[in-house]
Amino acid sequence: MPRRIASISLHTSPLEQPGSGDAGGLNVYTVEVAKRLAARGVATDVFTRATRPDQPPVVEMLPGVTVRHIPAGPYGALDKSALAHYLCPFIFGVLQAEADNEPDHYGLVHGHYWLSGRAGMAAAQRWGVPLVQSMHTLAKVKNLALAKGDTAEPEYRVRGEEHLVRNADHLVANTAVEAGQLVEHYGADPFRVSTVPPGVDLDVFSPGSRRDALRRIGLAEDTEMLLFVGRVQRLKAPDVLLRSAAALLERDPSLRERLVVAVVGGLSGSDYAQPRRLAELARSLDVADIVRWEPPRSRAELVSFYRAATATVVPSYSESFGLVAVESEACGTPVVAARVGGLPTAVRDDVSGVLVDGHDPADYARVLERLIREPARRDALGAAAVTHAAGLGWEATVDGLLDVYRGTLVEERLPVASGQ
Ligand code: UDP
Repeated sequence: MPRRIASISLHTSPLEQPGSGDAGGLNVYTVEVAKRLAARGVATDVFTRATRPDQPPVVEMLPGVTVRHIPAGPYGALDKSALAHYLCPFIFGVLQAEADNEPDHYGLVHGHYWLSGRAGMAAAQRWGVPLVQSMHTLAKVKNLALAKGDTAEPEYRVRGEEHLVRNADHLVANTAVEAGQLVEHYGADPFRVSTVPPGVDLDVFSPGSRRDALRRIGLAEDTEMLLFVGRVQRLKAPDVLLRSAAALLERDPSLRERLVVAVVGGLSGSDYAQPRRLAELARSLDVADIVRWEPPRSRAELVSFYRAATATVVPSYSESFGLVAVESEACGTPVVAARVGGLPTAVRDDVSGVLVDGHDPADYARVLERLIREPARRDALGAAAVTHAAGLGWEATVDGLLDVYRGTLVEERLPVASGQ
């Protein structure tokens, strides 16, 4: 096994609070994996773009987990389309950092998201080590399921991903569905794709009294709370939850006194341009009085929200896995999710939650109404959700990744394919 690996997360730092902008599941993934790799004797340096002048170049995040800030382009958040222009200085910074750190070579590069993969490819070639690549999301797949009003992923990303698929020594998919998409849409060699599902921190996310949790977040014990957690963007469809709540109230107006919709997270993606969009929608649907807008919360704080909820709702148009779904399940709260992407892996239909076809608010309202009307069923789903999540701990993810790393290190290096 390598003693040290380079993990590349160009567009978002593991030191950021997840839940807004570009910080989300990928940040959680890199930290959770790196800290467990460190416990097994593999140190990780996470390379990310510097976004503030006061960031030290090197931060020891945890024992065995180092974050390296690489100056590339102007400080501040940059749109992903702008980031592509700063790949060269980023790659230069990564190579420079390794040169300064010469005695402790990286044995392998793991790229997260296509932009990081492009940088990782250059570094891995220069160092003569394998590149393992996790795409996390795929442009072609995203473009097939765009939310109304969302912009399509650009052609240069598609071409960049195709080139990466040809050149990475091994690809890691979050689910078998994503592995299939890599083969079907990108022509990946199935023998160079492994499925390693992400996980959940079972020490942090655990079941507990719903009543206590409701009290802790300042709500009455008889509240029925519908929960959205994540980056507020069209792709994740928080508007579908608001519309479902309105439909639910239409079916049963008496629920208004105890129904709460909690939206935990900050703006992201195209929603930056329209920060009032959802609040205005809530007003036009006449549900503004029951919606609680919460800023991004720490993982410890999220536990109370998950435990307090009647259900966590994940109506996304596209989702490579959906960590939020598994975190909710680990806290004993069933998930009502769209049957897309990795969500059918994260949620077992009619066992740990309910999968809904499509995004019709009436369908979600029907499912939610039944969970509220039949508390025994809701509790049974919640109990089964805990069992389901127990099989998805990060330790299993790290087992899978170490298998991939080992396998890649004994394989012959691929010749670099021509192209971009
Ligand atoms: N998250 C958080 N605080 C928030 C909202 C979200 O820590 O206020 C975390 C959440 O717990 C989860 C991650 O952000 O671990 C989101 O991951 P997910 O896979 O659901 O979505 P992604 O961001 O990858 O699209």
